Amino acid sequence: MTIAFIGHGYVGLVTAAVFADLGNTVWVVGRTKEKIEQLKKGIAPFYEPGLSELVLRNLKAGRLFFTLDYEEAVAPSEVVFICVGTPSTSNGEADLTNVIDAAQSIGKSLVGYKVVVTKSTVPPGTNRRISDIILKNKPDGASFAIASVPEFLREGTAIRDTHHPDRVVIGTTSDRAQQLLVELHKPIDGKTILCNVETAELIKYASNALLSTKISFANAISILSEKVGADVEIVLDGVGVDKRLGRSFLYPGVGYGGSCFPKDVRALIAIAKTHGYDFSLLRAVDEINKTMGKQFIQKVVTHFGGNLKGKRIAVLGLSFKPDTDDMREAPSIGIIQGLLEKGATIVAFDPVAIPNAKKILPSTVLYVNDPHEAVRDADAVAILTEWNEFRQLDIIRLAKGLRTPVLFDGRNIYDPHKMKQLGFTYYGVGRM
Ligand code: NAD
Repeated sequence: MTIAFIGHGYVGLVTAAVFADLGNTVWVVGRTKEKIEQLKKGIAPFYEPGLSELVLRNLKAGRLFFTLDYEEAVAPSEVVFICVGTPSTSNGEADLTNVIDAAQSIGKSLVGYKVVVTKSTVPPGTNRRISDIILKNKPDGASFAIASVPEFLREGTAIRDTHHPDRVVIGTTSDRAQQLLVELHKPIDGKTILCNVETAELIKYASNALLSTKISFANAISILSEKVGADVEIVLDGVGVDKRLGRSFLYPGVGYGGSCFPKDVRALIAIAKTHGYDFSLLRAVDEINKTMGKQFIQKVVTHFGGNLKGKRIAVLGLSFKPDTDDMREAPSIGIIQGLLEKGATIVAFDPVAIPNAKKILPSTVLYVNDPHEAVRDADAVAILTEWNEFRQLDIIRLAKGLRTPVLFDGRNIYDPHKMKQLGFTYYGVGRM
């Protein structure tokens, strides 16, 4: 099948490359000339394990094409996927500017019959709006059906997730569109859920909101664990063995971040409000999440007696989670700003996110290329992302590099008892 993707971000580029690898002819539309020129050479605009190889292989095989021109991509395609960003507006709603722009451009480029599918996360009702926009812009004779196939991939494991998702949600308004999309997704190994577009749109928000709720619940229990002298990890192990509950996503730490959970929780609160429902549960989820960074800063400040002037803190991990260079709403941003405000000097290391971090973090942050270089002469280490390489650090060497062996483990990756035996003053989240 010939298909098109609008947007070459984490969702657009990964999905496009996977569908090309499955034998389809795939067009990808971007809006930045430099990025499209780089992509034509196989250079992805962000880090995702295995992606550059996948893009290169399919470029060479003549199955993957990049363009700035909607017409070039849309005209030969049977299915057009909208994969543009839907960030938050200042009041927490989903900003649909990119989606509306894409819908207008697709409408103008329409020839024959197309299925226009939204992969971007959009509020229920948006696909109907997209339909109206395309209808207004399309030339006479062209026809289309809209559909919603929300994306569930996770950055860091995006290629595997695209091949083997837990589910493929296909929300449609016509049998013809549904058949075409079921056919296209046949090689994808996941449970297919067929529904109307509003249901598909809401499944995506409900999933991200519940995952965020699990994280905030674990974090609330971590706060209580510290107050009552419990170990949150063991508490959650005890909770998670119950098959009705499970342990996954009960991650105490410095809070969730990234390009999806924070904005999707805010958007679902806003969607509910528009429909006259106060989603107080999600307001609490969002509030608890904001608390976690502040708690972490407070632990550091309290340890050093209320002031961080002259203190050098080595920060290990900047991206919002491991195996990605994505810094969007990363907890590290607020924590580093808070530590700087209290007078600390920050020396930061991350395996891949430093170039993106430099665009966001204050210019006073120092960056190094090695975790051991970061801790040299530092007064404490703060672990903010659970990169696997931090789990395997030579702790004895790490301790020797530090001025004082103090460890603030924002992701609970170390065993508190072992760290204390090694001479560290150790602070985890929800356990001492
Ligand atoms: P992104 O910011 O990485 O990429 C968005 C892309 O859209 C960029 O390449 C941008 O240039 C392009 N774009 C924007 N407007 C355009 C236009 N009018 N024409 C052509 N290109 C345009 O975003 P992302 O992380 O890939 O997310 C895209 C959508 O998928 C969002 O709605 C997000 O919530 C959702 N989503 C993201 C993830 C994830 O892990 N990143 C997972 C599931 C769903």
